[in-house]
Amino acid sequence: MTKIISYLALIVVVLIYKADSRTCKDVGEKCKSNNDCNSGRCRQKRCAISTYTSDKALRAPHQLRLGDMKTQPSVSSYSGVLGKNNRWKNGKMPYELDPAFTKSERKLILKSLKTIETSTCVDFVKRKNQKDWVYFDRGVDQGCASDVGRQGGKQILDLEVSKKKGEPDCMNEETIIHETLHALGFHHEQNRYDRDNYVTVNWDNIACSFQYNFDKESPDSITTFGLPYDYVSIMHYGNNEGGIDPDVPVFIAKPKRRKIGGDKLSRSDIVKINKMYCPK
Ligand SMILES: [Zn+2]
Repeated sequence: MTKIISYLALIVVVLIYKADSRTCKDVGEKCKSNNDCNSGRCRQKRCAISTYTSDKALRAPHQLRLGDMKTQPSVSSYSGVLGKNNRWKNGKMPYELDPAFTKSERKLILKSLKTIETSTCVDFVKRKNQKDWVYFDRGVDQGCASDVGRQGGKQILDLEVSKKKGEPDCMNEETIIHETLHALGFHHEQNRYDRDNYVTVNWDNIACSFQYNFDKESPDSITTFGLPYDYVSIMHYGNNEGGIDPDVPVFIAKPKRRKIGGDKLSRSDIVKINKMYCPK
């Protein structure tokens, strides 16, 4: 009897091991696409066994840029170019500032726009009667967020200002430039289709509800402008950004490097903007 029980237990162990070691290919129909695979496993499966909750990840300061892209244009590039309809004509982006911004906040926004202007061929012009423009909104509970590229009409770029611990405060040059680059038409660098050649994503440290932020785009719908992967782009999340545990990396670079994610315009960011707005 004991022998039979031991034998059955062994079979159960083997079956569990087998189930756990199936690859994406093996479970085929359970994976919606190749994007659901990570290291040969189904991401959905990994999520299903995760005990992490999205709430835990939602408000932490290191999550400031999670889910900050409001739109997913049909013709787009995660690293660079959008369809011409989503670009700003002649590289001029009309803007308006919410009167609710304080004097110092307005100064910081204008300084951030100037930083982009002086390094690239893009111009920011105060809106007069242009029909398409960006409205910088001093939002409440909106986080820091922007549409990607020109949408037509008034489009709102949210810059939440909060001094409360754990609440988003978008009032810093890095975030303002990052959101403005979304409005100009740029996505996150880590969404490039070739990113797995450059970074390993640590899915275990990303809440299921935020994993879409790390989806790759298909080469059919994007272009990288032929530029190398830019680890220090202002459009690349940092090593720990988006992580449930801020002390555990979200990205591991291949090969290892100290820094991932930029806090200012990188050389490559400048080249990308100019390639989009003043191609020679
Ligand atoms: Zn972003």
